[in-house]
Amino acid sequence: MATAPVLEKEIRVTTKRATETMNALVFRAPHQIGIEQVPIPKPGYGEVVIKVSLTTICGTDLHILRGEYPVRSGLIIGHEAVGRIHEIGPGVTGYSVGDRVLVGAITPCGQCEFCLDGHLAQCGGAIGGWRFGNTINGAQAEYLLVPYAQANLAKIPSELRDEHVLLLADIASTGFSAAESGGVKIGDSVAVFAEGPIGLCATIGARLRGAALIIGVEGDGFRKSLALKLGANFVFDPTDPLLIEKIKKATSGKGVDVAIEALGLQETFEGAIRSIKPGGTLSSLGIYSGKLSIPIEPFATGLGDHKIVTTLCPGGKERMRRLMELVRRHRVDLIPLLTHNFPLERITEAYELFGSRKDNVIKVAIRVGN
Ligand SMILES: [Zn+2]
Ligand SMILES: [Zn+2]
Repeated sequence: MATAPVLEKEIRVTTKRATETMNALVFRAPHQIGIEQVPIPKPGYGEVVIKVSLTTICGTDLHILRGEYPVRSGLIIGHEAVGRIHEIGPGVTGYSVGDRVLVGAITPCGQCEFCLDGHLAQCGGAIGGWRFGNTINGAQAEYLLVPYAQANLAKIPSELRDEHVLLLADIASTGFSAAESGGVKIGDSVAVFAEGPIGLCATIGARLRGAALIIGVEGDGFRKSLALKLGANFVFDPTDPLLIEKIKKATSGKGVDVAIEALGLQETFEGAIRSIKPGGTLSSLGIYSGKLSIPIEPFATGLGDHKIVTTLCPGGKERMRRLMELVRRHRVDLIPLLTHNFPLERITEAYELFGSRKDNVIKVAIRVGN
């Protein structure tokens, strides 16, 4: 008789565990990531938990995996999510369980000094708006806790599939922002240094802003062909010793109005500054490591009226709504960038493929559930 309650308790605990854990990709140490069973998050005040249906892997995640961008051990990584609302915490209005939503990689509070000053990505301090898979658990999981949900859940129009909007969470928002921050005007000439996923989106952004001439700089054949398809007039090889001369020649000797740096290397940054005209703008998206230096001669010893601007991915639900409008109104189609897809259970294989850049991979869609 005395053993019965214990047995009952054990059974109850087992059942409870089965319903309250989820699969998630956990970072343990550099080059040590894997799917683990972790608790499903519960929303607190102002928070919402979504059941993720689609996510992706970003170049930033590769920096984390390789130990080049440090995060804490035990963190769920990933910062792009499409899903349905699973549970709503107190203080969140205007949403229902089951709503299909897109959440930006950057989740601003919408109320701090930086947010109210228009710098949502710098919420609370430098790079503070980037929380998912950086300072809090991220999106490569079955469920995702969204902070400041009221400012960050963008409902997805019914005519758009998850695949249509996934890349708006980060690379498209970031890529387009290079053209916006660079102030690309109708009729401008723009050079895009590196046509990887972000550079391709910067190319689309330059086209959307009305650039007349877009010059891609890229060595990979498949990426070249995509750049041409998405808006580049032509693409030069980065190893061409005459690269800068060719860019100058294409702009009547002046240099481009705006050069976009989309890789994060000294060479691409330098190529960008060498290719802009006096008074031109270098719009930088790359994440640099070590030291970055500016050559004096193309910088006109600091007297050339050049502008150098940087942008972290713009986030928040209004940004997501605007980007989804571009897709819904057929101004933008990001489907060609989703070259591969994997289920969450096989995400480490997806990391290997994405990191190797083999098989013409651009972006990998990660299906979660079903
Ligand atoms: Zn990212
Ligand atoms: Zn804020």
